[in-house]
Amino acid sequence: MSTAALRREDLAPQARALDAADPLADLRGRFLLPDGIVYLDGNSLGALPAAVPAAVADAVHRQWGTDLIRSWNDNAWWQAPLRVGDAIGRLIGAAPGQTVAGDSTSVHLFNALTAATRLRPDRTLLVTDPVHFPTDQYIADSVARLTGLTVHRIPVGELPGFLAAHGDRVAVAGYSPVDYRTGELHDMAAATDAVRRAGALMLWDLCHAAGALPLQLDRTGVDLAVGCGYKFLSGGPGAPAFLYVAQRHQAAFDHPLTGWNGHADPFAADSGYAPAAGVGRARIGTPPILSLLALEAALTAFEGVDLELVRAKSLSLTGFLLDCADVELAGLGFTAVTPREPSRRGSQAVLRHPDAYPMVQALAARGVIADMRAPDLLRFGVNALYTSHRDVQQAMRQLHEVVLAGEHRQERFRLRKPVT
Ligand SMILES: *Cc1c(COP(=O)(O)O)cnc(C)c1O
Repeated sequence: MSTAALRREDLAPQARALDAADPLADLRGRFLLPDGIVYLDGNSLGALPAAVPAAVADAVHRQWGTDLIRSWNDNAWWQAPLRVGDAIGRLIGAAPGQTVAGDSTSVHLFNALTAATRLRPDRTLLVTDPVHFPTDQYIADSVARLTGLTVHRIPVGELPGFLAAHGDRVAVAGYSPVDYRTGELHDMAAATDAVRRAGALMLWDLCHAAGALPLQLDRTGVDLAVGCGYKFLSGGPGAPAFLYVAQRHQAAFDHPLTGWNGHADPFAADSGYAPAAGVGRARIGTPPILSLLALEAALTAFEGVDLELVRAKSLSLTGFLLDCADVELAGLGFTAVTPREPSRRGSQAVLRHPDAYPMVQALAARGVIADMRAPDLLRFGVNALYTSHRDVQQAMRQLHEVVLAGEHRQERFRLRKPVT
């Protein structure tokens, strides 16, 4: 790590000063976080927004328990996928009528990638990132098998060169703006331009970007996008995901999972499928209403929030975390993995150490919750809506203490649990 100008005793006062000047500090009150916990895993499961419990109680007791099936009309359950989709659209720079909520990211990926190949029927290549999140790679392979296309795994930095040589054969390129392991942020606009200039379709997976960065899907000319509801959107465990289909592709969007909810007239009980107009055709089957209503309530945490300020604070948090790591962890065998340049940093800071797993366990025992990605990455996710500079300073302080005391060598922290 770089030599640090800061001293250890400077860090806590600096955290206090940064938090005192934080224009978003009050937003933490929109979340219910347990006392004594430093939560730096909102990039895996967002914290519980304060508006959610009452919304879920209402959905269960009044809407389901009392209004029963009338709720599809009377409580507008039927409209929820497009209504919640539009609420997400506001956070990703998508005008209304292009985003649908429901299902999972994996399902939307399958649907969108397959539909993309049908929008470019004469092309034979599907391009994706060799370090893409596992589900994105597995689904790309499966779509290729079904459609007869070939998958090429091209690092995002090599995409322009690959497209220059083979772009006329590429149907769709599927990438994430943020590397889920390292936290590196890629240039979405540049990649989108290169892909579209080749006549291919750009599909972004926004799981680590939606709610964390100010995105401009319409303005950037993105063709398709997917993302999950449970990370920075804080919609709850297994929250519905979303799919964005740019207006210009909707009329020809021919997706494989032709469920009845996407039919032009779902209650006509036609024997043949006729897609609904607009993005509603990307609905599949009956959506998980309780989860959709929880997600809808969660999104109210973003009301009146300027995502440019969210981005600025997120960078301040990750930058300060790396500064604290320089001081607290100097000489202890850690390397910073996340780029220092703000323009190349998503909303997490990542350190590498061979004992990443037991260290993350030992930190959790001290009330500092982060996570690890195999084999050796410690991930610290920050959500500017509720993470403070004091949180990240405490996390690095506690990690210093864990390592100095050798706590991570205890046998109990080495046992692998099913979820890491
Ligand atoms: C979290 C994440 C997913 C998760 O997909 P699920 O279908 O919700 O399990 C997919 N892709 C990326 C890039 C992710 O970060």
